Amino acid sequence: MGFWVCSPAQTVQEKQRNRMVKDQIENRGIKDTAVLKALQKVPRHLFVPEEYRSRAYTDGSLPIGYGQTISQPYIVAYMTEVIRPKPDFRVLEIGTGSGYQAAVLAEIVDKVYSIEIVTQLDTAARARLRKMGYKNIETKNADGYYGWPGKGPFDAIVVTAAAEFVPPPLLEQLKEGGRMVIPIGSPFMVQQLMLVEKKDGKAKTKNLFPVRFVPFTRG
Ligand code: SAH
Repeated sequence: MGFWVCSPAQTVQEKQRNRMVKDQIENRGIKDTAVLKALQKVPRHLFVPEEYRSRAYTDGSLPIGYGQTISQPYIVAYMTEVIRPKPDFRVLEIGTGSGYQAAVLAEIVDKVYSIEIVTQLDTAARARLRKMGYKNIETKNADGYYGWPGKGPFDAIVVTAAAEFVPPPLLEQLKEGGRMVIPIGSPFMVQQLMLVEKKDGKAKTKNLFPVRFVPFTRG
């Protein structure tokens, strides 16, 4: 007679999430284990509207209302990895949207500040993140162009809406040696995902790859 050491039953969503991480994220070269773990853990289906829940783990962006979208899982993983997140980091995100990217960051870093310009999205994301138990995410409803002055400087900044240029207040609130990832280009056209490193107070930029994000709007 022996006994079984049972692993707890996996939910359908956990299985879908494991597959998502293997096929869409690891297979495309994301290596940071903290990032992989975070994507493994955060329940993306709870960040999308009911009618899209069955597609929560598919390889694309999805509508979240008000003309906005939750980014493709791979893009979220890439943007998280490229800032080289560390457990003691304080990160600023512009474009809370559903709150998914903020949750992924919050699994890895100490503190996440996230700003959303659409009031209804801010309200919904805040309630969702609170319900999920995230205590290290602070959100606010404002124009992210100005950053979050009293909370910086930040180790890293993640911008999830496409801007025509890097907002100077964001560069200012980035720590020396810090990294910002931001899609740059015209709205509704293909943009360049850009890595901005702050060296001697100046921006050192590098184009990563073409992306398509919703526009960075102004309040
Ligand atoms: N990170 C989000 C993706 C949201 S899409 C997620 O994980 O779901 C980009 C978001 O940026 C949209 O919700 C849009 O309303 C917001 N946004 C656009 N311009 C902004 C600005 N100036 N300040 C703050 N948020 C902005």
